[in-house]
Amino acid sequence: MAEEPRRIRVLDGATIDRIAAGEVVERPASVVKELVENSLDAGARQISVTLEDGGLTSLTVDDDGHGVPFRDLPLAFERHATSKIITAADIMSVGSFGFRGEALASIASVARVRCVSRTADADMGGMLEIEGGEIIRREPAPRNRGTTITVSDLFYNTPARRKFMKTAQAEKRAVMRLLTQLALANPDTRWLVRAEGETLLDLRPASSLTDRARDLLGASVVAHMARFENAKGGFSVSGLASRPTWTRGNREQQYVFVNRRPVDNAALSQAIAQAYRESIPAGRHAVVIAFLQVPAGEVDVNVHPAKTEVRLLLEREIFGLVKSALVDGLGLRRAEDLRPWTGDPAPDPEAPEFRNLPPHEAAERLARAQDDYLRRHFQRGGSAGFEFRGVPRGQGELFGAAALRAQQSAGGATEPGDGPGGHAVTDGWPGAEAPLHAAPFWQLHRTYIVTQIRGGLVLIDQHNSHERILYNEAQRSLGGAGVPTQQLLFPAHLELTPGQVQAWQSHAGQLQAMGFTIEPFGGQSILVQGVPASLKNWNEGRLLLDILDDLAWDDKPSQENQVDLLASYACHAAVRAGEPLTVPEMQNLVDQLFATDQPLSCPHGRPTLIQFTLGELEKRFGRA
Ligand code: ADP
Ligand code: MG
Repeated sequence: MAEEPRRIRVLDGATIDRIAAGEVVERPASVVKELVENSLDAGARQISVTLEDGGLTSLTVDDDGHGVPFRDLPLAFERHATSKIITAADIMSVGSFGFRGEALASIASVARVRCVSRTADADMGGMLEIEGGEIIRREPAPRNRGTTITVSDLFYNTPARRKFMKTAQAEKRAVMRLLTQLALANPDTRWLVRAEGETLLDLRPASSLTDRARDLLGASVVAHMARFENAKGGFSVSGLASRPTWTRGNREQQYVFVNRRPVDNAALSQAIAQAYRESIPAGRHAVVIAFLQVPAGEVDVNVHPAKTEVRLLLEREIFGLVKSALVDGLGLRRAEDLRPWTGDPAPDPEAPEFRNLPPHEAAERLARAQDDYLRRHFQRGGSAGFEFRGVPRGQGELFGAAALRAQQSAGGATEPGDGPGGHAVTDGWPGAEAPLHAAPFWQLHRTYIVTQIRGGLVLIDQHNSHERILYNEAQRSLGGAGVPTQQLLFPAHLELTPGQVQAWQSHAGQLQAMGFTIEPFGGQSILVQGVPASLKNWNEGRLLLDILDDLAWDDKPSQENQVDLLASYACHAAVRAGEPLTVPEMQNLVDQLFATDQPLSCPHGRPTLIQFTLGELEKRFGRA
């Protein structure tokens, strides 16, 4: 540092330009973004992008938009020169992608640029060449309506920046992600993308987002996606999102747009995560394409020079809007709403509110409460002909008896597999012994458990649910929680195949943490002395052999093979379809399921339960 303070001076134009360029032009993808947004602003129906070395050597964007008049060409490359706004007030209501009038100037100051353009009414197009911000050639040139801009040797005059560029491959990936976003937001535009002489995208104009998504993300993903939409107070959101059965290990395939600009907004990502939170396993992410439309005055796009960040003024409202759009559109539910529900307890004649009244007043009050209860529980007209105490009256008998039986099976059925049973149906009410405080469970086809929830009913898949429980339990034990081992009375001697031996050797530590005690027993055989205590049935060792079969020759990294081990264990140890369950077993299974953090899906992402809402039932019975 010099001793004397240095003089302050105003930087020259070229230096200012290069500093400004650093904000807009970060890498080839940001150049492509600016050029393509200009093409879209110019009304292009067809846009083609060509890359060499991921855009580091050169990149070209060609469009059939309205073009730039020859005389205006130099102006387009001047800083703060734009055709899109006139005054600062226009910024708040701007409908185009661009408005800062900076991009072309910035790009031209750090690269060699060639632009050829023609407007519809001109006889001839024009060409302009700029190097490091200096115009070096300007002459008439033939072309059709539209604009072609080629940017070569990006950062040739700012070597420090050039050094920060990643590999051509990484730059190409960034460009492709960007173009995927822009192509999703503009399905009716034709896109052609080539890199290193190879065609990467050739997208015909699509008539819907679904068609465009199919072309870009693949038909298999889209088959697992559903539409969602929601609108409130001038804000709206719509798009496509994957069902919980289709998830990915990262957020790469979450595309969020605000007024058709691709954005990165923490609140919106959070809204997506929360909508799915209870439906998909931790660490997994849905595929989402969401378009948020907000009034121009509610969003500030002028936060970041490249406009990839936006500030949403009503963040909380928008958060709720997006979250509930997804929850409703995808049928994602909160686990809380899907818990078995006992119904309200029936009015209790012994309750203080009745007991402390003079007898005839108490009787009247109680009768009203009971009527009310029936109306609520057995829907409209429920009280017709049904009496709480003693004998049902009139035609209510049929209805009443069935209702009684249904209510009394609550927690009472003991016969496996055969639905309500166990407790004898008594005539008295509410004097019957069956408690009203447990939700009833039935097993259907020895495969599904059916029970009532607050808003309707659920069918629970006994195998998928048990898989979820076992998976989480085993995961906890691998995480060091430890798990009790149950010593076998007669240790089991198992002969293994070479693949099983390999699988056992590479998972020995994990199997031990899960509660298996296994020792080598000479040759290809092992001796199993203990198994996880929670295991109901290990089929004389078949369970372990099945798991080792699944893992044979598996040489994935340990993180992934642990997941495979857990999934295989959960799958083989879980109760199967076709196995009878007693009511206490069903109750237990459902309680444990809801005690996990992912009660709505099994480890493979399949649903554990399906819900039928009262609304759906009413519709199907023609009550709606
Ligand atoms: P901005 O987009 O913010 O206006 P730019 O520097 O990106 O600023 O572009 C400057 C001007 O050049 C634009 O306002 C537009 O008039 C013109 N322009 C740039 N690219 C194109 C194109 N592909 N087609 C037609 N006009 C263009
Ligand atoms: Mg622009």
